[in-house]
Amino acid sequence: MAQELQIFNSLTGKKEVFKPINPPFVGMYVCGPTVYSDVHLGNVRTFISFDVVYRYLTFLDYKVRYVRNITDVGHLEGDADEGEDKIAKKAKLENLEPMEIVQRYTNGFHQVTQMFNILPPSIEPSATGHIVEQIEMIQTILDKGFAYESNGSVYFDVSKYNEKHDYGKLSKRVLEDMMAGTRELDGQDEKRNPIDFAIWKNASPEHLMKWQSPWGLGFPGWHLECSVMGTKYLGETFDIHGGGMDLKFPHHECEIAQSIGAYGQDPVNYWLHTNMLTVNGQKMSKSLGNSFLPEELIAGSHELLDQPYSPMTVRFFMLQSHYSSTLDFSNDALKAAQKGYKRLINGLRIAKSLEFKDDGGDRNEEVIAEIKESITGCHEAMNDDFNTALTIGHLFTLLKKINSLYTEGLQMGAIGEDVFTDLISTFVTFIEDVLGLLEENTADSKDIINSLLVVYKDAKHNKDYDKVDQIRAELKSSGIVLKDMKSGVDWAYEE
Ligand code: AMP
Ligand code: ZN
Repeated sequence: MAQELQIFNSLTGKKEVFKPINPPFVGMYVCGPTVYSDVHLGNVRTFISFDVVYRYLTFLDYKVRYVRNITDVGHLEGDADEGEDKIAKKAKLENLEPMEIVQRYTNGFHQVTQMFNILPPSIEPSATGHIVEQIEMIQTILDKGFAYESNGSVYFDVSKYNEKHDYGKLSKRVLEDMMAGTRELDGQDEKRNPIDFAIWKNASPEHLMKWQSPWGLGFPGWHLECSVMGTKYLGETFDIHGGGMDLKFPHHECEIAQSIGAYGQDPVNYWLHTNMLTVNGQKMSKSLGNSFLPEELIAGSHELLDQPYSPMTVRFFMLQSHYSSTLDFSNDALKAAQKGYKRLINGLRIAKSLEFKDDGGDRNEEVIAEIKESITGCHEAMNDDFNTALTIGHLFTLLKKINSLYTEGLQMGAIGEDVFTDLISTFVTFIEDVLGLLEENTADSKDIINSLLVVYKDAKHNKDYDKVDQIRAELKSSGIVLKDMKSGVDWAYEE
């Protein structure tokens, strides 16, 4: 089993032992959201998957510089350089500044990441903040002869690049097949070849987001921003680059071509791609109309939802499958996840409350071996390409032992203090730090106070003054005071 971290590398199509360029430092880049709409649950899956990668690398004591960008310009409606800029289009529709759209959805994205306990990256750069660097990289690609200017736009010359390099090596496509399958589209006469992609686009007078460049007023192509920001913050070759599977082509394929074109070297050692969240087997996507938002999930207010689900239930649901498998949304699966999550979190509370005491139990080597096997299993599963599904399985085995200790079916003396400490710390660390699952307060504190008020009134009615005083004291210690009014009993925050 995996003693060292192994990662499935989309570039080589193999699992490889992870060897960072400059340990203990690790550079990791993940394509962030295009901020023209709210993120849906599919997007959330991808960001949770990389959150766990980031958390686990940190757990392994790597010093990770995690860059996750904000795409705020250049992502057109279509992948083949046609259509409008997604952000500019929305700004026009709503009669707002494009940067108002960008800010609104960036704020929304941050709220969602907090909701799902997704850690912030080390750097969150935006494309519009790096226009100068993008112009520089375009110039370098032009100087190297892998791009050409046409009517104020600059296109990457794919066939020229392919003479010496391999366009399609990430997505395992063959250039000739791709060329045969590309349509000549209206307005593409600027290109020498339909497969060429824009690294700079000239802007029409009514275009909202444009900058001055050596080629006139325009804006950068979508694929360029990630190459530029990855290079700027992580170097010409860095360790890990990730994104959803749907970004493999053309986005990541183009990133590789741009970097090799400019600097003559592969930009990334390990390419990681997460698989899609699907609904009835179809990719969840805004354009297909089968997506829902985190708020709809929590309110249970979408027709696909039987009931509300909490963010941690959803996080647990997602981690129950490996990031590279598709995951189909279903109410049954989410209801099962809700139960599983609660069992795990009840275990977490117990684990944190247990203290070792030598209760005179006889040392039980069999139980000790079982516990050690599951502890090793947690590490090995995560080392095996971040297999969270298997890790959760091992955590449930550990949970059984923790519950037995709690109910005293298993004596602490039977496992000894060292194993006990290892059991508790593995359980707590893997749940909280590695998987990022938190205890969620599902009960509203006001509901709890009101339930106590019922007991209080009852006690008063029965003249059970000991209980009355006890409830008063308990609530007071939580900053709540009870008020006996003519109309009944009410409560207030202690001032
Ligand atoms: P976008 O804002 O559309 O660029 O998407 C942000 C991230 O979410 C990208 O890495 C996409 O690959 C990913 N993504 C989009 N749809 C899904 C989905 N249904 N399941 C998982 N990831 C997705
Ligand atoms: Zn990207």
